[in-house]
Amino acid sequence: MRVGEGLLDLFFPSKCPFCGKLLEKGALLCPECQRELPWLTGEEALAQVEFVRDCVCVLRYQDRVRQAIHGYKFNGRSAGGGAFGRLIAQAVTDRGISADVVSWPSLSPKRLRQRGYDQARLLAVEVGRSLALPVLRTLDKEERPAQSGMEGQAERRANLLGAYTAHDPEGFRGKRVLLVDDVLTTGATLSECAGTLLRSGAETVFGAALAKTGK
Ligand SMILES: [Zn+2]
Repeated sequence: MRVGEGLLDLFFPSKCPFCGKLLEKGALLCPECQRELPWLTGEEALAQVEFVRDCVCVLRYQDRVRQAIHGYKFNGRSAGGGAFGRLIAQAVTDRGISADVVSWPSLSPKRLRQRGYDQARLLAVEVGRSLALPVLRTLDKEERPAQSGMEGQAERRANLLGAYTAHDPEGFRGKRVLLVDDVLTTGATLSECAGTLLRSGAETVFGAALAKTGK
């Protein structure tokens, strides 16, 4: 039983966040997407990310999934956030991951100004709502060149080194933090964030992403 289920229905998008088809009342996505999307199962759904105890991913980042997340992220369409967040929350529960607080890798202030919203924060809020957990900002990020222009893991890591600092560490000291992100590529971002949180007193860091790139 999820908290606030009835209330969520009021605001819930009536269109499938992956293909735009109209949905049955209360459905997260359409039957076709439920059947055909590249869902990750078993070991495939887990990513190895340094400093992150368990990192679970819901979908392969391809085709319809890529388009849906791209629309969500770059066109300011945030309607999918509810369904996306609930899919992530379901995967977290299925894996038996138990956290105390939900957080996300913050954008730099400049990036946030450019975009106008922080898609990972929107996801984290939905995940927190679904899991009935508090959502806390735990990280600040300073401006760095965009990761999306970089191919290699080494390059991405070097670019992020020291980019994150803990935001109000009293809020998560001794706690199990679940970091939520939209797409997991090399894991460099989550790893850098998790390392920062552990050094600042988090007990454990878990990760969850809507989609994962690669094979
Ligand atoms: Zn659909």
